[in-house]
Order: sequence, then C-alpha cells, then structure tokens
Amino acid sequence: MDCSRFVVLLAAVCSSWTSAFAGEPVQNLLKNPGFEDSLEPVWEKRTPDDADRKLYRDAAAGRSGAAAVLENAQPAFTRLRQGHDRSIAIAPGSLVELAAWIKSELSDEGEAQLQIYCMDEQGGILAQPISRSMPGPCDWTRTQVRTAIPERTAYVMAYLQTRGGVGRVLFDDVELVVRRPPVPKQPAPKIGLLTDLAEDHPCVKELKILFEEGLQPVAGDAARDLQTCVGAIVLWEADMPESVLQTVADFARGGGRVFMDIRNFAQSQKTTAVAAAVQTPIPAAEPAAAATAPAATALQKQMAAGLRVVQAAEATAGFQTGQIMPRASWPDGKLFVLPAGFSRPGLEVLAVAPGGESGLVQLPVGKGSVTACDVLSLREPFYRHVDAYYKYAPLSGTLTNPVRFGQYYPHKFTYAQFVDQMKRLAAEFPAIRFQEEGPASEDYRLYSLNLGRPGGPLYFLYAAAHGSEWEPGYGLLTFARRLAEGRLQDVIDLEAVEVKIVPFLNPWGYDHMRRQNARGVDLNRQGDWAWDAFQGTDSNQDGQWSPGDYDWKGSRPFSEPEAQTYQRIAELPNLHCVLDFHGNTSATNNKLGVLPVTAQPENDFLAMDLQRLANDRLRGRHLMRQNDEETVSQYLLDRVYVGGHRPMLMNTSMRGRFGLLIELTAGYGSTYGTVVQTDVVCELCRALFITYPPPKPRPQ
Ligand SMILES: [Zn+2]
Repeated sequence: MDCSRFVVLLAAVCSSWTSAFAGEPVQNLLKNPGFEDSLEPVWEKRTPDDADRKLYRDAAAGRSGAAAVLENAQPAFTRLRQGHDRSIAIAPGSLVELAAWIKSELSDEGEAQLQIYCMDEQGGILAQPISRSMPGPCDWTRTQVRTAIPERTAYVMAYLQTRGGVGRVLFDDVELVVRRPPVPKQPAPKIGLLTDLAEDHPCVKELKILFEEGLQPVAGDAARDLQTCVGAIVLWEADMPESVLQTVADFARGGGRVFMDIRNFAQSQKTTAVAAAVQTPIPAAEPAAAATAPAATALQKQMAAGLRVVQAAEATAGFQTGQIMPRASWPDGKLFVLPAGFSRPGLEVLAVAPGGESGLVQLPVGKGSVTACDVLSLREPFYRHVDAYYKYAPLSGTLTNPVRFGQYYPHKFTYAQFVDQMKRLAAEFPAIRFQEEGPASEDYRLYSLNLGRPGGPLYFLYAAAHGSEWEPGYGLLTFARRLAEGRLQDVIDLEAVEVKIVPFLNPWGYDHMRRQNARGVDLNRQGDWAWDAFQGTDSNQDGQWSPGDYDWKGSRPFSEPEAQTYQRIAELPNLHCVLDFHGNTSATNNKLGVLPVTAQPENDFLAMDLQRLANDRLRGRHLMRQNDEETVSQYLLDRVYVGGHRPMLMNTSMRGRFGLLIELTAGYGSTYGTVVQTDVVCELCRALFITYPPPKPRPQ
C-alpha cells in the first residue's frame, strides 16, 4: 500500500476509535516505549546482531528524540521484543492494541510489522496476530494490531519486526494498551453427575469439557448437592444403588431435569435394557478403510444407522420427525434400547430403533422429567465418527442448551437439486425472493435468496467460494428459512434491512468437490487488493504456479465469471456488511474469524464482539474432536484476527465497510454434520446482525 493513503486511513482509525471507545486515559503497558533509554534490558534482540542485521538505538532519529532501528544488510527476519521476562500480564478476554510509529527505508520486497504473542504458563503460543504489513519504504506512519486475549494467557509479548528487504526501519512511541477490559463470563450452569465411572473415563472427561466448571460430582445419597443444580446426569455401569434412584427421583419431582443412560433408566423402571442392532457390523479387518476418509456411500450407510425421531423435543432438536439421528456403538453397530412392548403412563417416546423399540424417551416426574438414551456405548465424538457425532446432543439439548436453528439434511444435493431447494423455499415463504445473479464457469449460474426491504442497508452472506467447503451453504439455506419463519424477529428487522444470500459462489467446485472453479482458479485470490504482489505455490509440482494449483489467482483480478458476478454485488451502493463462510476439518484452521485489511477501522473489535455474542449462545451446546486436536472441545469461535493479507474477495466487498470471513468445520464426505454446521452458521449470522446494526438514518 502506498504510504500517503495509509496515513489518511490511519487518521480515520484514530478519530473513529476515540469515538467508539472513548473513556478514561489508557495506560501503556510497555516500558521505555520511546527508546529514550538504552534498549536493554526491557527490549531484547530476539534476533542477535550478526552479518545479516543490526538492532540498535539511535538517539536522534526518532519521530521525537530517539528511535529503535532494525537494519538489514541482507534480506532477513529481524525482531526486537519486550515481555519475554513474563512481566506483562493481561486478563483473558481483554481487547488490546499494540501500536507504533514506523519509518521505513526498506527495499520494496521488505515489510515492517508489529506482532503480539499471547503465551500460556508453559510458554506455548495461544495467539500471534500480526499488524497489517507496511511494504517498502515510507515516512513516519502509525500502525497497529489488535486482539482479544485468549483464555489461559499467562503473559503477553510485543514484537517490532522486519521481514525481508534491505535497509533500515525505525520504530518510535510504541504503545501496548487495553482498549476494553474483559466482559465477565457467565458461570456455567450447574449439572450434578452421579456415576460409578472413573475420573479418567472418556465420558467423564468429555462431560467436563462440555459443561466446564458447572459439572459437579454428586455422591448417590447427597441430595443436598443437587439443590443448586439445573440438571443431573446418571451414568452407571454397574447396577445403580437404590440411594441414587431416590436422590434423582426427588430432584426430578422438585422440577429438576435428569438425563440417564437408558440402562439406568430401565433399571429405575424395574426392567432391563436390551442391545438392538442398528447397523451391520463393520468387519474388523478394515482398519485402513476406517482410517481414511470413507466414501460417500459408506457414510450414507452409517447415517442410516441410529434412532428414528418420532416426536419433536429439545433432546432431538435439529432433526425432523421421521429423520434418523445417527447413533450406534462401533464397530458392532448396536444400541441399548428399552425392551419391545415397554410402556409406562406418561412415557413419551422421542426416537426408536429400527425394530421399533424405544431408544430415546422422556418421562415426566413430578414438576420435572427424566430423559434417557444410550450414551455409554458410543465412542468419542470425533468429527469423522458418524455414529457418535451427536453423542451428547440429547444430553445438552435436554439439560442446558438445545440446538436453536440447526437443521439436518439427510443427504447431499447436487447443485441443480440445491437450486431447486432454494426455489422451493422461496415458493413456500413469500418473504423470500429467488434471484439469478449471473454466470459461473462452465455452464453454471449463480443464484441468491433475498429478504427484507430492497434498497435498505444490505447484508451480503455467502459461502463456498471454495467449492469443497460446502456445508455453510446449507447453513445459509437454513438461515433464510429461519429468517422467513420469523425466528430472528427479535434481532433482525426485515422492514429496515435487505439480506442477500448466495449459498454457493463456486457451483462447479461444489459439484466436483474442488476448491477451484472449472478453470482451475482459486476464486478467493481473485480480488483486486494486493493481487499483483500475491505469489502462491506450485502445489501440483508441475514446475509452475498455474491453473489447478491450490491458490492460483487467475490471469488478472476478476478474470473469472463467478468473481465478476461477485464484483457486481460488491459494488451495490447499499452494501453495508458481508459474511464469507469457508471450512476445513482441522481444529487449528477452523473455529476462527479472519478480518479483512480494508474494512472500517472499528471492524476489528466489532468482530470480536460478534465472537463473544455467538460464543455466549453456543457455550455448552456442541462437542467434538477434529483433526489436530488431542481431546474433544466445545464448538465455539476460538479466534478472530486480521489475516486477510491476500487478494481475498472480502478485501474488495468489505472495503470501507464491515464484515469478516469465518472458517467452520466443513468439507465432510456427506451431510451427517449438518445439525451442528447449520446451527453454528445461523448463530454467527444472528450475531452479525446484532454486532453490525444498520447505520442510523441521517436526520432530515
Ligand atoms: Zn476456503
């Protein structure tokens, strides 16, 4: 970016920031911020002086007084830091900003940056956001990087650095400040756990992660301990003592909600649960097949094994009556259910096994209720375990936080079928307008669903610019449905705003399960921001970076028909806010929000508000383990950071506006994850409308 434009932009940053976050004067957490004293000991040379670089203080070169100088003799990564002695502690949840004045004499290929490190007690990195880069030479310019301090952060470090290039970079008046203290987190609802399972039993460990500090072990006869709980869980491998039965029965009679494994429920009803086959056993000799991504047909077979929902309830929320909630032991494909013909007055059967036996039931007891199904037979809710994906859904649904918006799609549509679904939805709800948006590669066309007041402040929501990252597109179809049903009336005024939803920006890629479009172009490298400078990788190793490579940017910005259609939407004068969904299956690369570099300056902290709002709602709802995770975790938006230093489409559509890109767990072989995926998409969209309200109309 050229420096003069940068300065204008920064002036805007400063003025709007003071208005958005006005308040008491803020304290600089850095010592010797203007380098008026010698660098050492508070500033440390992370990269020592050597043949490639020198780091030193210049007493007169500063914006005022002294400056720190990072000088590269060769292109090098050169870094000066403070906080390595663990002296800077900031409360998790705080929104912080690291800012500095920078004057660069670097050659064009070099860049100056600021970086924040949030470290845990063991010295592990929890977050490492980088400022918007300042390439090449420029006169004194103020830049900054902002972040929310993650949970478990023990200390924070501030880095001043140069990457590549030859020449000097001067830093002055560095500032690390807390812009907003943490918003206190609501305590997790208390859930009593009555069990004979060991502390290290997988179920106990998983429940602790789902219910956090709210999960309290309760001894069988300690009725008093249950008094402050909103719910109780009974998981007993051996026969339950009579005292446990008494305790939870009393708790339920008083209005408590109880969840039991169905074996324990059967015992409480003086009967015995039986193992029913819900799926053909998987031959043990297929470990290799199980380790790789299973084919769609195999997945479809696994999805057919489980409990058929026969009555809508919070325990089955997201599944419609008649749909099967995948659920089975692995690899023998069984589930414990109530014996055939079992009944009790008032017993509600919520879901049944293939043989018709009751597999998920609810019994009103006094002012409360007992809900039961098989939990103990299921393996870990790993994202690829179709049979255990919803292991705890009946439990969290009944006790604390049911699925609010999610919708199960029992099979994957072709693009043509999906478009047909869009048309049907528009036919069902007059509030939805189906519209053709323009061409896509090959003979595909792009379509949208539109709601609200035409010409009102426009919210543009889209997914699958990378065709293989497809599930959020289903989430957006569900979101359109929920909007039209009036389920978001409390936060979205359709008389005031316009909503445009493009579920699939890359239809060819969706049909072919490919990242790129039909011409081998990565559509999300087609934007005009920093397109010239962007250099990708020769991922197919054919000797050149070209069509078909992972992130081939095309022959020029907006060379592709999908990108041209997108550009036309991005130029709509009423466009206000944009949300771009992507996905993958690595927990280190999803559950995150990426901020554009071109948006309104207050966009960064607003996006962190969105994260907090969505997480408040999602806490205690979805639990799973994905790739690169050692244990299960709650499905929340873990991180939000500026990361769009590439010609991403959002840097065009969000320029001077608002919005972000969100990566979710997606790219599965079939639709078994859609209750979670569509639920999370809807919650994030909901949070978007709250966080980025329409601009107030100007007074006449
Ligand atoms: Zn993507």
